[in-house]
Amino acid sequence: MFDQRTGKTWPLLIGGEARPALSGRVFQTLNPATGAHLADVAEAGIADVDLAVASARQAFEEIWGPMRAADRGALLLRFAEVIRQHSEELTQLESLDSGKPVSAIRRQDLPAVIDTLIYYAGWADKITGTVTPARPDALTYTVREPLGVVGAIIPWNFPLMIGMWKIAPALACGCTVVLKPAEITPLTAIRLGELALEAGLPPGVLNVVPGFGKVAGQAIVDHPDIDKVTFTGSPVVGRQILQGAAGNLKRVTLELGGKSANIIFPDADIDAAVRAAGSGIFFNTGQVCSAGSRILVHESIHDEVAGKLAARAKSMRLGNPQEAGTSMGPVVSEVQMNRILTYIEIGRAEGAQLITGGARHGDQGYFIEPTVFANVRHEMRISQEEIFGPVAAVVPFKDDDDALRLANGTVYSLAAGVWTADMTRAHRFTRRLKAGTVWVNTYGPTDIRLPWGGARDSGFGREHGEEAIDNFTEPKVVWINTGPA
Ligand code: NAD
Repeated sequence: MFDQRTGKTWPLLIGGEARPALSGRVFQTLNPATGAHLADVAEAGIADVDLAVASARQAFEEIWGPMRAADRGALLLRFAEVIRQHSEELTQLESLDSGKPVSAIRRQDLPAVIDTLIYYAGWADKITGTVTPARPDALTYTVREPLGVVGAIIPWNFPLMIGMWKIAPALACGCTVVLKPAEITPLTAIRLGELALEAGLPPGVLNVVPGFGKVAGQAIVDHPDIDKVTFTGSPVVGRQILQGAAGNLKRVTLELGGKSANIIFPDADIDAAVRAAGSGIFFNTGQVCSAGSRILVHESIHDEVAGKLAARAKSMRLGNPQEAGTSMGPVVSEVQMNRILTYIEIGRAEGAQLITGGARHGDQGYFIEPTVFANVRHEMRISQEEIFGPVAAVVPFKDDDDALRLANGTVYSLAAGVWTADMTRAHRFTRRLKAGTVWVNTYGPTDIRLPWGGARDSGFGREHGEEAIDNFTEPKVVWINTGPA
């Protein structure tokens, strides 16, 4: 169990070894529920990333790449089992470092981490090619080969879960990984690396380099011996990654932000829609790329929906994330708290109607009241820009065309929801909504078996499902002459 009093410095994990940064530098991670110092962590620099990449390259060439695929799968299953045995420890650690309520981690994050690993363990020996009869004088077929060394750069909103979304398919394909967690939530990534070794994954297969984006992250992006970068985070950094990756033409997958629309029609089950709209924006304190942050409501039911949503917001239990009854924790950092509070001020100044919340909660830690703005106009910044906090914008619309225009009217394209009893309308909306995922009469569920990702400022490429296998492999054509030489 994680013990805050041990005072140990959390290490880098390179080539199976826990080590300090070559520079000797450390940084601090804080508990967002209190603002107090949580742990010191070794701070990876460029030279540490170099070492991690060399170790990942060696493990790829000599051990993990050549290994029998079924043996790789078996090791990943063992990794899943070791994680299961350490579920409670990981839950506490994730909660202390990120502020997520333990109840949510137990219900969602940890089961998803284990499910992801088991799902991709099953893929390891089922990655096949095809025989294509291209010519009568040749046997022509494809094999899928692992890309090589993968740099995985992850954010702080779901450190364990998003980390595993990248680690599991990469490893299943035979790639090796250099993982850089976000600097404000580095602890569970380091622990995952340790547990991988405990499960018997060979040294160098999963390396962890906690550190800052501009140094360790940029070093991964710039590295000439990394074959692919898989990134989840902000559109600003996504663009920088794309530019940096041009150096050696790395493959890139970007999962960026969103400003997803959750559309409610009068013929829907209004109470169910409001319940889902509430969790769609308040789950994980709104720090979710697919948060339903714009609740588009037909004008005839706007006041009813806004009122019921405000009542749900008021019923949320903010508090110590380590207590089982807490339904909403703090946001992850002081920087994020101030950013969200600034957006709330912008909403007020723009003339949106603040019907509940709107302020910091308490004076310890980074808590923000669940906030609902009603009668928001589409052009307002709080309806266009990703706030990444517990701030709902309820936007009235007139008819179906108006709803579609508003829903598709931001720079993002990640997810959308539509609530209606009219199946013709539901199908029309699933076709016309610009989003990687469209939910009908529900909001928010995802599953590792289904592709996940977006377009435009939400990024490109898909994680999850078979698509992730394509992301970490490349087809090779074999052409065998069967005719005269
Ligand atoms: P960020 O994009 O700055 O950080 C995400 C990861 O990228 C971190 O590991 C960070 O260290 C790394 N990084 C930062 N600069 C880098 C660089 N130049 N090269 C390589 N890696 C770099 O996100 P943030 O500052 O932590 O959050 C800001 C905003 O990002 C949020 O408000 C939200 O809008 C968005 N965000 C989106 C998601 C998502 O799931 N899509 C998750 C977290 C944050």
